[in-house]
Amino acid sequence: MASKDLSFEVLHMPPENTNSVLVCQGGDAVIFDAWGRASDWDKVLSERNVKLIAIYSTHGHSDHISAAPDLAKKYNVPWYLNSGDWNLIMWGNALLDFFEIPHINADYKKPEDLRSGSSNILPNVQMDVIETPGHSVGGLSFYFPAFGVLLTGDTLFRDSFGRYDLPGGDANVLRESISKLYDMKLPDETYVVHGHGVDSTIEILKKQNPYFVSHKCCSNGGGCKCNTSGHVCHCHNKCDCD
Ligand SMILES: [Zn+2]
Ligand SMILES: [Zn+2]
Repeated sequence: MASKDLSFEVLHMPPENTNSVLVCQGGDAVIFDAWGRASDWDKVLSERNVKLIAIYSTHGHSDHISAAPDLAKKYNVPWYLNSGDWNLIMWGNALLDFFEIPHINADYKKPEDLRSGSSNILPNVQMDVIETPGHSVGGLSFYFPAFGVLLTGDTLFRDSFGRYDLPGGDANVLRESISKLYDMKLPDETYVVHGHGVDSTIEILKKQNPYFVSHKCCSNGGGCKCNTSGHVCHCHNKCDCD
């Protein structure tokens, strides 16, 4: 989608695995989840003749940050990552071997902390940051009211949700984060970009993803006794699992 000089693109950088996003306006560019190699991102930026001004990561797993430190260093721009995930930056190097992507060096450019709140990432592009831990401690989702777009990272996928068995993962916390996204009551037509797989909309998630519901009945004691680790509640305001 594009209006005048404003553009929003979902990119599948090689080796195809993760959904990255590039937002450009007036010659400036912002990357979300800089997966792949920094050299491939150089090509993307020069092809579009844009200047990188910031990098944001939904979380600290290497498949969402692999190119971020190098790009941040090379272009001297900030890289934003919730501090809850800073200890994952080097941990993820083992996964990069699998994809034959260079490791993040021990002297990598350090990220800046990012917390919930709203700010303009580009002059006319407001971004709301929503803290959505559970897949990792520092998981974030990003909502762009001007585009009607939500980035969920690995908190939620079109038909499922992210793993909670990796370091810092927690099934109950992840469930609460999914509730938080549901409870935002975003318009049905909101376009949703997930960390992996096919994009969706809020309408598709409501119809097709049984986990995209409000789990408040569990935490409120609304009759549900199922608040057990590893159990994913299918309740929809009214709990059907006890
Ligand atoms: Zn992840
Ligand atoms: Zn991922």
